[in-house]
Formats: sequence, C-alpha cells, structure tokens
Amino acid sequence: MDKNTCIFCKIANGEIPSATLYEDSMFRVILDLSPASKGHALILPKKHFENLFDMPEEEGKEILLLAKKVGTKLKEVLSCDGMNLIQNNGSSAGQTVFHFHMHLIPRNEGDDIKLNWEPGVLSEEVKQLILEKFTKE
Ligand code: AMP
Ligand code: ZN
Repeated sequence: MDKNTCIFCKIANGEIPSATLYEDSMFRVILDLSPASKGHALILPKKHFENLFDMPEEEGKEILLLAKKVGTKLKEVLSCDGMNLIQNNGSSAGQTVFHFHMHLIPRNEGDDIKLNWEPGVLSEEVKQLILEKFTKE
C-alpha cells in the first residue's frame, strides 16, 4: 500500500476527519468505525509502515506506553471491566488495513465478543524443534 492512497495515513495525518480521542506528534487514536464493543479504539502511527516487522524502533518504544495511557482513560470513561490489545500482522493473521494499527477493545464480564481460539497441545517434538531453531539462528 502506497502512503498516498493509504486511508489510515490520511486519517492519522488529519486529511480525513475521524473521531479522535488523542493525538500527538507520532500517533492519532480514533474510534473504530465498526467496533467490536463500545469504545473500540485504534492507535494509528502517523508514519506509514505496514506491520510489526516494519515498525521503526521509535514508534515501537512509544506505542505500549500510549496504549497504557489511552487504555486507562478509556477504562475510566467507560467503566469497563477489562480490555484486549490486539494487533494483526498480515492477512493470514486477520489484518485488513495494511497500515500498522493497534486495537483497544473494551470488555465487560459476560459480553459475547469472540476473540478466542481452540487451545491445542504443545508436543515435545515441536517444542524441541522450535527451541533448537530459535536459539540457534
Ligand atoms: P484489522 O483487521 O486489524 O486490519 O483492523 C482494521 C480495523 O479498521 C477494523 O476494525 C475496521 O473496522 C477499522 N476501520 C477500517 N476503516 C476505518 C475507518 N475509515 N475509520 C475507522 N476505522 C476503520
Ligand atoms: Zn499508511
């Protein structure tokens, strides 16, 4: 995705209006247009990069601090019980907009929002294979 045609570039940089909760020199935080729950927000970096693997160090250092700051305020304002931080990388992982973003999804006890997977089993063979490769390379 070219940054001249990227919708999140345009939103993050104020060329397209959005429901903005917070803005600073690096990020804009907006309400998601198709929310999973009330208050579902997105942290958008102002710089264009597609995903975690392309994320510059500077943005990487700041984003979790911002998620804590905005997430804490959102939790207070909404009086929700909890919050999911979700960040999809690649279409196989559910990414649909290819400008990095982090979801903040407010949660309440008993809500019916489905983000779950079926737990598998970590076999000894797979465990050894991954540990070997990961620590060697
Ligand atoms: P993902 O599947 O992680 O790429 O998430 C993309 C998110 O962006 C979805 O939750 C969409 O509802 C949201 N979205 C897409 N376009 C807009 C927009 N113009 N304004 C706000 N949220 C948007
Ligand atoms: Zn972009």
